[in-house]
Amino acid sequence: MNKMVPNILVVDDSKAILIVMEAILNELGMSETITTCLSATEALDRVKADINYFDVIFTDLNMPEMDGMELMRHLGALNYHGAIIIISEMAHKVINLAANIAKQHNTHLIGNITKPIQLSQVGTLLTKAAQFHCHTLIKESAISKEELIGALNNDEIVPFYQPKVNAYSNKIESVEVLARIVSNKDGRVISPDRFINVAEQHNLINQISFSLFEKATSDFNSMKVELCQGFKLAFNLSSIQLDDLDCPNKLLLILANNKLTPSDIIIEITEQHALSSLAQLETLNRLRMHGFGLSLDDFGVGFTNMNQLKSLPFTEIKIDRSLISHIDTDLFSQVVVTSLINITSEEHLDLVAEGVERPEELIYLKHHRKNLAVQGFLFSHPKPKNEFVRWAKNWIKTANSLIKK
Ligand code: C2E
Ligand code: CA
Ligand code: CA
Repeated sequence: MNKMVPNILVVDDSKAILIVMEAILNELGMSETITTCLSATEALDRVKADINYFDVIFTDLNMPEMDGMELMRHLGALNYHGAIIIISEMAHKVINLAANIAKQHNTHLIGNITKPIQLSQVGTLLTKAAQFHCHTLIKESAISKEELIGALNNDEIVPFYQPKVNAYSNKIESVEVLARIVSNKDGRVISPDRFINVAEQHNLINQISFSLFEKATSDFNSMKVELCQGFKLAFNLSSIQLDDLDCPNKLLLILANNKLTPSDIIIEITEQHALSSLAQLETLNRLRMHGFGLSLDDFGVGFTNMNQLKSLPFTEIKIDRSLISHIDTDLFSQVVVTSLINITSEEHLDLVAEGVERPEELIYLKHHRKNLAVQGFLFSHPKPKNEFVRWAKNWIKTANSLIKK
């Protein structure tokens, strides 16, 4: 079996808990190494030895000397980018506060497990940790710079499409462009997790993005004709691409060539790196001033916290799929998502739940928020243009027949 979360660290001042956790993690077999520590000080030393080593840290909240909160703060200061899971019963307010504190320190708290610890609970959270941008997995399977240049030269980077659907009317509100490399030789498909980082590191991301934007905007016109419907096109940009102050002009030029306007487009900012430089903020503002919709992607696990959110010109928030997965039963996600729902309502922002896979998740979300768009495998996987159009025609037909009934 593929080891989804290779290296795990467990910190608890109770020896009994460490033994139970080790036994459960061994039985789950999802990891290669399990390290246990009886104190947060010892745990920090282990992390400092190699900041990229641990993929997940389980930590008790109440420990003598250094407690779990302080440990999270130090992990943030060290730039630890793996996932953190708290081993403790937590009341709603504590979850909310802990999640906010973690975000202030740029750490990724993804949930808590309660005592007595159960195998199924640990398994679910490890799956969530693996879903969450797992740096080690990305590094391991990344393609080489040469392969990426080859794909660019052979024009093998193509758009796939996935809809965002209104949860109440079933209308397709927008269609997200997701990059793929499709081999001209054998049709093999390479997913963006294996090449977007490489493109960013080697300064190839703009070349990829603008060529993809050209293809997608031209597809978009023909899709609207075929589907006899208006919707928006959602396009991903990494935050570092905003450092290029000329980025809005380049997008505008491509739009003009295709007789489209910025109001047709939503730019999704993927937050692998925090939005930080002044240039990034300037570009973001300029895009909004031109009329582009702006979506903050992966909200809940990225770097932007609630306060920053209020001062940035976003029009849409996408809740990360690690918070949507099993939301119908996961109290931690429920509390965090409820506070996101409240803040987006107050700020009049559109809200998208991504990664909806199960009907139970959709039912839960619809019950807790009026006016919501949903995206996920429950509706459609990302597809090449022709397959997407076929899917959308069927979807529209079914949605219309439901309205008539
Ligand atoms: P993202 O923008 O958050 O896109 C959503 C990802 O979740 C997509 O993965 C999509 O296939 C996947 N997904 C959608 N629904 C579900 C679901 O129900 N369950 C699960 N498990 N997954 C679902 P994909 O296409 O592999 O893209 C991964 C990431 O690569 C994207 O995450 C985005 O950050 C980045 N990316 C993709 N295309 C581009 C691009 O053109 N430019 C940049 N800068 N980044 C891109
Ligand atoms: Ca996105
Ligand atoms: Ca996302």
